[in-house]
Amino acid sequence: MGLWFTEKQTENFGITAKIKQTYHTEQTDYQKLDMVETAEWGNMLLLDDMVMTTEKDEFVYHEMVAHVPLFTHPNPKEVLVVGGGDGGVIREILKHPSVTKAVLVDIDGKVIEYAKKYLPSIAGKLDDPLVEVRVADGFMHIAESEKAYDVILVDSTEPVGPAVNLFTKGFYAGIASALKDDGIFVAQTDNPWFKADLIRQVYADVKEIFPVTRLYTANIPTYPSGLWTFTIGSKIHDPLKVKEDRFFEIETKYYTKQLHHACFVLPKFVEDLTV
Ligand code: SAM
Repeated sequence: MGLWFTEKQTENFGITAKIKQTYHTEQTDYQKLDMVETAEWGNMLLLDDMVMTTEKDEFVYHEMVAHVPLFTHPNPKEVLVVGGGDGGVIREILKHPSVTKAVLVDIDGKVIEYAKKYLPSIAGKLDDPLVEVRVADGFMHIAESEKAYDVILVDSTEPVGPAVNLFTKGFYAGIASALKDDGIFVAQTDNPWFKADLIRQVYADVKEIFPVTRLYTANIPTYPSGLWTFTIGSKIHDPLKVKEDRFFEIETKYYTKQLHHACFVLPKFVEDLTV
């Protein structure tokens, strides 16, 4: 029968994966960290018993959280990732030649350490000369930053534990201050099947602060429900009004120029969360 891991996505429903081996497990200063090898998804990072990323499907999330805002901004140079200690978003950011600095602020250095060791295909660019890695609270970093970034990507865990402050209106107001005058930010905003109220609240909060606010989706099989949302807030540039000549070829497995537009077309029950 072998060893199986189940992530309880709600009190009544979960997702189960066959585990081939456990590489590392520890209670860090912030969360329970497990790095395992699964039969279906390759190596998998778990935090507090929730799937964070897997070798097999990570590209969907990392491409979609990065390329939609980075192609929307006309000339992104300085980019910040809040969370993202597995390095996948950094890897995607560096595919944009305009980027001169990518700062990653993750509160837990252990995530970075074990991602480098067991997820090299995801974390491989964390040592790039354009990347500055800081082990700190993203909430504090945002509060101390003033018009510093063109794009900010919030790649945090669920709004529990160390990430609870990263889904508040105050945090989004701080992001607006940390962005330059034509800045753009994207936050991962969970799934509409089990976290509809969170999506509705975040969207309403962001819309009060950013003139351009939109929701887009992607299919992530190992995340709760498989249907994932991202909330984008922009001071000027609209992701649906990107000039044709702004797009250029990059190596991706999920994101495309066509999907850049199509991902904003929402199922009715999801669109209803944005009104
Ligand atoms: N893609 C995943 C998702 O959508 O759930 C997130 C992956 S990434 C590993 C999440 C990271 O957020 C973790 O490494 C965690 O340490 C970090 N994090 C949580 N709270 C944070 C905070 N207040 N400041 C900075 N990083 C934080």
